[in-house]
Amino acid sequence: MASRSFRADRTVIDLGDGIVIGGERIHVMAGPCAVESREQLLTAAEKVKAAGATILRGGAFKPRTSPYSFQGLGEEGLKILAEAREKFGLKIVTEVMDIRTLPLVAAYADIIQIGTRNMQNFDLLKEVGKVNRPVLLKRGLSATIEEWLMAAEYILANGNFNVILCERGIRSFETYTRNTLDLSAVPVVKHLSHLPVVVDPSHGLGRWKFVAPMCRAAIAAGADGLLVEVHPNPAAALCDGAQSLTPENFGAMMDDLRRIAAAL
Ligand code: PEP
Ligand code: MN
Repeated sequence: MASRSFRADRTVIDLGDGIVIGGERIHVMAGPCAVESREQLLTAAEKVKAAGATILRGGAFKPRTSPYSFQGLGEEGLKILAEAREKFGLKIVTEVMDIRTLPLVAAYADIIQIGTRNMQNFDLLKEVGKVNRPVLLKRGLSATIEEWLMAAEYILANGNFNVILCERGIRSFETYTRNTLDLSAVPVVKHLSHLPVVVDPSHGLGRWKFVAPMCRAAIAAGADGLLVEVHPNPAAALCDGAQSLTPENFGAMMDDLRRIAAAL
């Protein structure tokens, strides 16, 4: 069902208010890694909106490597995201980690994110397939393109056709960057599948300095959108500060991107 042979046209995902993923326009999803506080999130939302983002990201349930790291605000974080949506007219993308919290996350999110670590959590994929919400499916840390598309297949086969694929870097022998952003996945997935593809250079590179050039490259490669971490004060971030852009750097990058993508 995820294959191009299943349908001739491309999947377009209408989020309402003129925001369509997989259409003419490239959409930028931006915001902090984690919702840390009301003030932090509302500041981030205001800045990314002003710079031209249409979708606000922010994790309320965080999959952290260490159990002692900040785990997210849970439902309180979702409520803050909903407030930002109302205030700034942004759509919300946020991660679900568990079937038990899926109804809660689905009640708040415009797009449900499946993180890289859950790409092959097949029971979660099946449940997300039964929910009437678009899904952002991140590529697994060590997943082949074939495995990634089969994960999407789980969601489609359960009745949810609104899947957006997200390339976020894969593990390789290279350690200078956090992961190796596989931009070749963009044209390959477009060749194999009708689903839209967005690119996340923040997690792909892990260092904010390299995010802007890879955003430019992702657009040139044919991505339908970008996912970028932006924090009002990256040095004080509770999660992924090293890869987060300041609002100023994000604004400058967006101005730059507009020069190479007329439809941004
Ligand atoms: C995130 O988007 O903050 C995140 C945890 O991403 P990933 O699953 O790609 O590591
Ligand atoms: Mn992150």
